[in-house]
Amino acid sequence: MLDTFAIDIEPVITSRIGEMDPDRLEFGKLFADHMLTAEYADGEWQAPRIRPYGPLSISPATSALHYGQAIFEGQKAYRQADGSVAIFRPQANWQRFNHSAERMAMPTIPEDIFVQGMRELVRQDASWVPSRPGSSLYLRPYMFATDGFLGVRPSATYHFGIITCPVSAFFGQPLRVRFEQKYVRAAAGGAGYAKNAGNYGAAMLPSSLAQREGYHQLLWTDASEHQYVEESGAMNVMFVIDGVLVTPALSTSILDGITRRSVLELARDWGMPTEERRVSSREIVAALGQGKLQEAFGVGTAATIAPIAIIGHEGHDYTLPEVPADAFSRRVGAALEAIRTGQAPDPHHWMVPVQG
Ligand SMILES: *Cc1c(COP(=O)(O)O)cnc(C)c1O
Repeated sequence: MLDTFAIDIEPVITSRIGEMDPDRLEFGKLFADHMLTAEYADGEWQAPRIRPYGPLSISPATSALHYGQAIFEGQKAYRQADGSVAIFRPQANWQRFNHSAERMAMPTIPEDIFVQGMRELVRQDASWVPSRPGSSLYLRPYMFATDGFLGVRPSATYHFGIITCPVSAFFGQPLRVRFEQKYVRAAAGGAGYAKNAGNYGAAMLPSSLAQREGYHQLLWTDASEHQYVEESGAMNVMFVIDGVLVTPALSTSILDGITRRSVLELARDWGMPTEERRVSSREIVAALGQGKLQEAFGVGTAATIAPIAIIGHEGHDYTLPEVPADAFSRRVGAALEAIRTGQAPDPHHWMVPVQG
């Protein structure tokens, strides 16, 4: 990282922090005072700026709106036990952002704009990082094509930005999910591994249909056979089968989640056997029948760990066993929270302080 990196900062005149109620933080609604922006033109990134959060002005022909060159990231900054602020694994998000950019024929972004810019932005809005247990400042880097041109080709200009919003602990109920065996989130060779906007738009109809049937979200299966588990909603999915942590192996249709990666690393630290491989819906239903499926849960930045209580398969709802207090998913959720808030050692150096 560059020590000499300096960003032009235009601070707000009046902070809106009085609008923040730490007891009532709705995800994605209230944004902190500042945003970071950088423009790509003439084949290079122009100097990033930090300025008051506010609207952007774009052409109606903006190519991202028509042809979908748009990607994003999702990550969090946490209040530390000593009052300082640190970001969880920002380099990992930066690398994934660039993989998404490459897949969408967009320019990659240098580490100093993404990571250093993010640290600078969070430092500027440090008072917006909530301190209640489980709360954090959610960080949303994004990039979209800005050419005002209707020809179908990669844009020559792009906008990169980071906006942030305070979020509280995620107290969702245990999830009701069902295997999706008609619609497809992503096919092999497609862009499912990228965090590009179109993946989410295309998932909304099938997800709403499942919600009308009383499920919270879907367990996506592979595009060719509708047999192998891929992800759950916009989270990776994990199972504990007979004491083994099992999760679908990464592929071009699965997002390489940083929570997934971190949970696997902690499980290995603890000596728990892990398997990254294909997992079929039949295997899950059979393991349920034999009493071998101990836990199923989604993993992602928003919820960290989202336990699954019910799995629907071919018209039948299967109920998972109650999750005991010492279950793996609970222990790993607590361990991650302790590392993220500086209450436990950080042997993998996941936390990056915004100061210094
Ligand atoms: C972002 C995302 C995840 C989770 O990734 P994290 O880095 O753990 O937040 C999983 N699946 C999809 C489809 C996603 O968009």
